[in-house]
Amino acid sequence: MPAIWDLPDFDSHEAVHVFDDRKTGLKAVIAVHSTHLGPAAGGTRFWHYGDSQAAIVDALRLSRGMSYKNAMAGLSAGGGKAVILANPARTKAQDMLYAFARAVDSLGGKYITAQDVGMSEADMVSLSKVTPHVAGLPGQGGDPGPYTARGVYLGVEAAAKHALGADNMSGVHVAIQGVGSVGGGLARYLAEQGARLTLADVDAQRAADLAAELGGTSVAADDIMHVAADIFSPCALGAILTVESVAALKVRAVAGGANNQLATGLEGRMLADRGILYAPDYVINAGGIINVMRHIENADDAEINRRINAIPARLSAIWSESDSTGLTPAEVADNMAQKLIGR
Ligand code: NAD
Repeated sequence: MPAIWDLPDFDSHEAVHVFDDRKTGLKAVIAVHSTHLGPAAGGTRFWHYGDSQAAIVDALRLSRGMSYKNAMAGLSAGGGKAVILANPARTKAQDMLYAFARAVDSLGGKYITAQDVGMSEADMVSLSKVTPHVAGLPGQGGDPGPYTARGVYLGVEAAAKHALGADNMSGVHVAIQGVGSVGGGLARYLAEQGARLTLADVDAQRAADLAAELGGTSVAADDIMHVAADIFSPCALGAILTVESVAALKVRAVAGGANNQLATGLEGRMLADRGILYAPDYVINAGGIINVMRHIENADDAEINRRINAIPARLSAIWSESDSTGLTPAEVADNMAQKLIGR
């Protein structure tokens, strides 16, 4: 295994902490990418990794992503991420969670954790009994989904304006992949504004029910990326924009809430070459983290709204710079984020 410094995902992270608690079986990594704007904030992921290097690489990659996302959301927070290596032979025990909380606490507030894949609300409450460095606890703003959906809606509206010259969403055709918390919320906002909707979900009944309720249509999950529409809005899985899928798109813009939409990063150029506007995922889907951080940042409802309402202007600035420089929106966003974190 190469040294951490030599891993391709190492990006001059400020610190990478590795924890091993023999008594409880805890194995965890906390990567602090940047504290330039404030404490490194990002969720804890509980996951079965093939090997320990895969866990370190995930922490490196995700913590850098959080630096970019938090910076572009206008938060006074840096970027960090924790991963707990699930042990197939043991369940996620309380004593192990406490050991992890002590690990978070040992960093003295340099890292603030939140919920991510594999961690429940109850797990976050357990952590908070040991360390104060936990954001987004129940009763502190609640489910981030509706806030993310609101920001994504505003971003889709901005994309319609930039790509189609549309001043409102009336008649704009949006194809949404995944109608859960984010995609479902987005569909409701769009329906209110008179957009035309095509919905898909692996839970086909869920998509059909929502389409019936909102006056749209639904298609099979496998077909949603082939729908001829104005905007494709990925709100389900990451890595859905591949060389093949981008070649098949029949839309003018891609703007949706899913994380890490570009499978390798190269697809950003393909989208631009095809004249398809792209809303960088971590910019458009920041509504949730903006709300999750409300207690840490002492932000009231008005401030949360102000920050979410700033998402479309941030996207427009990215697209304008992309138009004038020839860089892709994803490249422009990364450059902006790097500048904000002093790199
Ligand atoms: P969710 O679980 O509530 O909804 C996801 C929906 O997508 C489900 O209905 C699921 O059945 C469907 N789905 C899964 N695979 C699919 C496929 N291949 N094709 C079509 N539909 C599929 O999740 P969510 O909270 O709405 O999150 C959606 C995406 O947004 C995820 O990528 C998530 O990481 C990202 N995101 C969410 C938030 C948030 O606040 N919830 C914040 C930022 C990013």
